Amino acid sequence: MKKYFKNILAGAMALTMAAALAGCGGTQTEGTGQEDAAAKEGEKKETLVMATSAAFPPYEYWEGQTIVGIDAEIAAAIADKLGYELEIEDMSFESIIPSVVSGKADIAMAGMTVNEERKKSVDFTDTYATGVQVVLVKEGSKVTDVKQLFEEGANTIVGVQTATTGDIFTTADIEAKGLGTVERYTKYGDAINALLANKIDCIVMDGAAAKAYAEKNEGLYVLDTEYAKEDYAIGLAKDSELTEKVNGALQELLEDGTIQSIIDKYIVSE
Ligand code: GLN
Repeated sequence: MKKYFKNILAGAMALTMAAALAGCGGTQTEGTGQEDAAAKEGEKKETLVMATSAAFPPYEYWEGQTIVGIDAEIAAAIADKLGYELEIEDMSFESIIPSVVSGKADIAMAGMTVNEERKKSVDFTDTYATGVQVVLVKEGSKVTDVKQLFEEGANTIVGVQTATTGDIFTTADIEAKGLGTVERYTKYGDAINALLANKIDCIVMDGAAAKAYAEKNEGLYVLDTEYAKEDYAIGLAKDSELTEKVNGALQELLEDGTIQSIIDKYIVSE
């Protein structure tokens, strides 16, 4: 199934206005207009803080001074349902779970894959989307099939974003087996630059984001073969009182088709 991205401007207007008011920075707040409802219900906390890493199109990325994308819109819909004001904090991917564990943020939402290791530190909601790990290469790359990464003597230099499942998989399947080297980057942008400069042979990352980077950077393309399939969910602090509420709101949004329509705005299946 081939997918491409639509450029979305509508639907981000409330976010744009909030960002313009707040000025440029790593944080943005979106008024949900339901703060009164929250106050009536006796909520102590009026802001829902989402920790993310906003270089992951189409799930979260900066558009001007605004973080937009599938996760940003789903989080806004959840906050709206629960009567919170949404605040989005942009940080490195590896800081997201620690910030939720320490209570600096309420929800981790970053195309975050559910896995057993992460379940030791956070609780996850139900799954709201699926992802795949793919291989992003530059034209003329020696890597033309994912299988080559696991061949004896491959000696590939693979780029990943630190602490992602791409990092976890390649560390175990390639580095630990002596089949190649894993270069870890704090931000995808640095991995992309390294690939463009021929410093690495490929990047292992999520398919939707890889496709978006390939569309923006001449000469980059995604190999057809997929590395692994995964489920995305929202992470919350262990035993947080918020988990049930956030999951309840998420379930309603899944059932009434809101989530699918948000995904369809950004990812169009051919
Ligand atoms: N899905 C991957 C993970 O959870 C990568 C997510 C991301 O880079 N934002 O590790």
